[in-house]
Amino acid sequence: MATEGDNDTHMIDVLVIGAGISGIYQLYKLAQTDLFFRAVEAGDGVGGTWYWNRYPGARFDSESYTYAYFFSKELAQEWTWTEHFAGQPEIERYLNTVVDRFDLRRHITFEVRVVSATWSESDRAWTAVLSDGSTIRSRFLVTAIGILSAPQFPNVPGLDEFEGEAYHTGLWPKHEVDFTGKRVAVIGTGSSGVQVISAIAEQVASLTVYQRTPNWCTPLNNSPITDEEQQQLAASFEDMHTQLMSSFAGFVHSFSPEDPTTLTPEQRREYWESLLAAPGFAKFLGNYMEVMTDKDFNAEFSAFLETKIRARVKDQSVADKLVPDHGYGVKRPPFETGYYEVYNLPHVSLVDMRETPIERITARGIVTSEGEREFDIIVYASGFDAITGAFDRIDITGTDGTLKDYWAEGPHTVAGAASPGFPNLFFLVGPHSSGGNVPRISERQCDFVNDVIAEGLRRGATRIEAGREAEAAWTAHVYELNQGTLGAQAALDYTYGVNTPGKTVTFRHYDGGLVGLTAKHAEIVADEYAAFDFS
Ligand code: NAP
Repeated sequence: MATEGDNDTHMIDVLVIGAGISGIYQLYKLAQTDLFFRAVEAGDGVGGTWYWNRYPGARFDSESYTYAYFFSKELAQEWTWTEHFAGQPEIERYLNTVVDRFDLRRHITFEVRVVSATWSESDRAWTAVLSDGSTIRSRFLVTAIGILSAPQFPNVPGLDEFEGEAYHTGLWPKHEVDFTGKRVAVIGTGSSGVQVISAIAEQVASLTVYQRTPNWCTPLNNSPITDEEQQQLAASFEDMHTQLMSSFAGFVHSFSPEDPTTLTPEQRREYWESLLAAPGFAKFLGNYMEVMTDKDFNAEFSAFLETKIRARVKDQSVADKLVPDHGYGVKRPPFETGYYEVYNLPHVSLVDMRETPIERITARGIVTSEGEREFDIIVYASGFDAITGAFDRIDITGTDGTLKDYWAEGPHTVAGAASPGFPNLFFLVGPHSSGGNVPRISERQCDFVNDVIAEGLRRGATRIEAGREAEAAWTAHVYELNQGTLGAQAALDYTYGVNTPGKTVTFRHYDGGLVGLTAKHAEIVADEYAAFDFS
């Protein structure tokens, strides 16, 4: 194991962009090799998503122990999660512990962004220009930049005019934000909005929620991990890993084996009641598969959830606005703790932006078609230029042009790991690979990418490029799986890019889950890596 230290003009073997969940694992893997490597990270600490999204209420909605690393049993034994769904501070502590435990921090340069990366055919290397003006030359470039890391503000005028405090959930400051007695607006009701709204509602003087699309929010059902559970978790470390890595999407939950057509509506409702009482993603991934694929079962489950929302919200005219008009699961559903009860508080109001859109932000507050409301704090829970957004923000130039142009009409990759025309560039979590519990997907992808690089080095190659045929086949597979699904028919969320003005509407996620990705990796290996050109 080695690392390139102070002199940034030297050629290194591998440059990793990002020190979040994937970047940390990538560094751990590189530290087992003889390669010279370095990571650059925009934040002043590690964690990626869990560094930037430190807003009140931020927490896992995958079970903590399914999100953690599995590369070290000792680490798993030393670290104990306090809750089934840990909060951001605990997650950040965990990631820092991992980095220090495995002595990875010294490989990371903090508070710099990669501005551009350009491939040189003569050098067979990438030159990365950093935001501090320095450059790093590296034979391989590995992006660990996340799929939800390019924060996006609403496209309304006046954002800079507001004289109060304004925060984006994905760029939350390290200092404490005091909401006590403040008039607060939250724009956006995705997973982040739902968490922050629930967390601050009791503290504020008034809370106005600006909602464009309501979501199907179901109880997270978080709880402390008991000593007994802790012991079970420690004892089942290997089994848990095997279970997760062979599951559909890297979660502990799996679809019900029952065929709902053989059950009565009462039996289905009874099962759904049990799902609502179960933790996290059980409502989605523990459901009947047909709820996600058949529009009638989907409508029946959605109608069941509607009764739950209406039972929790006292004012039915508010409930009318909170009940989605899309089917459950066609848009990534948030998980909540006390969310709907927030709307029963006398100081909370809901603005439906479909009826009264935001026209502009002013020095004092927010103007909709209904008039102006004044605020002390505006929270933008308005999401991200997802999946390809973080790639677009780096000027990556390969053999024939930029990655941004190459993916302009939609990404195309080999197994989400690399694209032709961009030799020696690999993506850990990126387009056409993600779609599940991110750390498990990224573990799989990271193992694969490192195997490809190792194979190239074993063959004495200095250049590894994804093949065009393999790219066409994987891209066709991604779209084929997606075609005709309830999600594709609705094409409602960031996985299609619809939340980003001007972005081509096309599917950027992957519906085959960890299972599909694993099968593809195995096929590529069995085919002796013919999907890549080694030279
Ligand atoms: P999001 O799901 O994209 O939600 C953004 C919200 O802002 C939506 O309600 C959106 O409305 C609204 N919005 C965006 N632009 C707007 C505009 N110009 N005008 C009005 N409203 C606008 O983003 P997010 O809540 O940050 O979550 C993103 C993803 O991060 C989640 O789906 C999840 O995968 C992950 N996440 C996970 C957790 C966790 O528990 N582990 C927590 C937070 C986030 P529309 O829906 O109409 O576009």
